[in-house]
Amino acid sequence: MNRDGLSRTRTYAAGALALLAFATACGDNGGGGSAAPAGNTATTAASGPASAAGGTPTAAATTPGAAPAQGDAVAWAKWNLKPLAPAPAPPADKPIKLERTGTVPVFSDVKTSDKVVFVTIDDGAEKDPKFVEMLTDLKVPISMFLTKDIVKNDYGYFKPLQALGNHIQNHTVTHPVMSKLSADKQKSEICEDQAALTQQYGTAPLLFRPPFGDGANTPMLNTSVQQCGPRAIVLWRESMQIHDMQYQAADKKLKPGDIILAHFRGPKELKGATMTQMFGDLLARIQEQGFSVARLEDYIQAPAS
Ligand SMILES: [Zn+2]
Repeated sequence: MNRDGLSRTRTYAAGALALLAFATACGDNGGGGSAAPAGNTATTAASGPASAAGGTPTAAATTPGAAPAQGDAVAWAKWNLKPLAPAPAPPADKPIKLERTGTVPVFSDVKTSDKVVFVTIDDGAEKDPKFVEMLTDLKVPISMFLTKDIVKNDYGYFKPLQALGNHIQNHTVTHPVMSKLSADKQKSEICEDQAALTQQYGTAPLLFRPPFGDGANTPMLNTSVQQCGPRAIVLWRESMQIHDMQYQAADKKLKPGDIILAHFRGPKELKGATMTQMFGDLLARIQEQGFSVARLEDYIQAPAS
């Protein structure tokens, strides 16, 4: 696969992709598998004027456009980690520009020459207070794709994470295999999560991630997403396991702009490791490759309202 091509195209091949994705992506047993969903980076066709309102409508507690601080050496030492290089200032001209209407783009990385990667954390099952402490110390930006039925027993857990400037995004109500659902069911899965997250967290998710990456490139799912409000479908290039990532790229190296998938998981899913151990190992793998972590939403221009 030509992952560096400038003209990566969006494909609408559902079946094989769905099966592959189902075998390896979030919610599975973590057993070895092959690749996660094929990376299809689609940039919006019409970029429109870049002068539209800066920041995003989902901004929580941070100033739009502010570079994320990434803690200090003492804080990193507390977690037995080497500090990541600070992320560069967010680009003024966003590499991904979202439109208010029409087909939503599907992407698994962001076109940038910045030596940054983006961390996304899904589902919301493990609610470890130590992880809140860790992110408060380290200020590493994350994006959270939350599933209503998995988080509804404790929506409050995610609020201090949101208050750090991290965005909450849509990941369905029940975490189904979307390509097996009717259009109506797809819509209720996305729209009901959208409504619940908007009500709980005060901002409407801008991004959607289908469970297991399934159906991401099907016209039916694209239409369902459009009907519920999110304006992009986000996949990933690497998937964090317990101590290391599973890479789609054959050279098993991070590339600038890669989106990394991780999960809110605890000892039961991580063979005894904790959420903070898993996340610390993820940061160590990023640090040793010389990357910093930037905020995904800082590289995306929300539609002009
Ligand atoms: Zn998931």
